[in-house]
Amino acid sequence: MKSASRQAIETMTIPAPAEMLCLDYVNTLYWRGSQPQTETLTDIEALAGWVGKDGGLPQERGQELADWAKANPPKAAKLFARAILLREAIHNLFVARAGDRPVADADVGLLNEALAEAPSRDALSKTRTQFGWKVPRGDITAPSILAPVLWSAADLLLKGDPARIRQCANEKCRWVFLDVSKAGARRWCTMNSCGNRAKAHRHYHKVKAAEK
Ligand SMILES: [Zn+2]
Repeated sequence: MKSASRQAIETMTIPAPAEMLCLDYVNTLYWRGSQPQTETLTDIEALAGWVGKDGGLPQERGQELADWAKANPPKAAKLFARAILLREAIHNLFVARAGDRPVADADVGLLNEALAEAPSRDALSKTRTQFGWKVPRGDITAPSILAPVLWSAADLLLKGDPARIRQCANEKCRWVFLDVSKAGARRWCTMNSCGNRAKAHRHYHKVKAAEK
């Protein structure tokens, strides 16, 4: 009883997630237009590492997930499968927005289900330097460890300018991003990789054509 009641009041503070956190999560699988694609979340340990480092949760939560996964392999396998399913649903939603196509009800449904199970954002807490959402620590589930990702997906769908949601123009890359540039004409994930590669590619073909 004692531990149950203590657990009930145990809380943690989650900072407001970055606007593009959901897209960072989507892009944990990249070179989506290539064979093979590049998967960074290869197992639950990799997911735990991402959650603690980039996932918008307090760092120790990633370690808690890793420890919990070691102690509960079947549950961990289910959590991992759902986390990937959610990533792909979020991916589909934003790719549809980027392409100005209707979103699939099934993808909205998966996101809604997870949002309903994620801790609700109904209380603020103040850390030394900033505000955050005060949420119960609760059980380790896919919606709880992905809460900042889910919130950011919902917020971006609600408030983000759909015209600024893009996919890299490199067909092999298909990185999903939010164009925050002033001109709003960004086509590539980063100019250092795909943009330059495309330029080099065009240059190569121009030179080849000139040689003929
Ligand atoms: Zn790219």
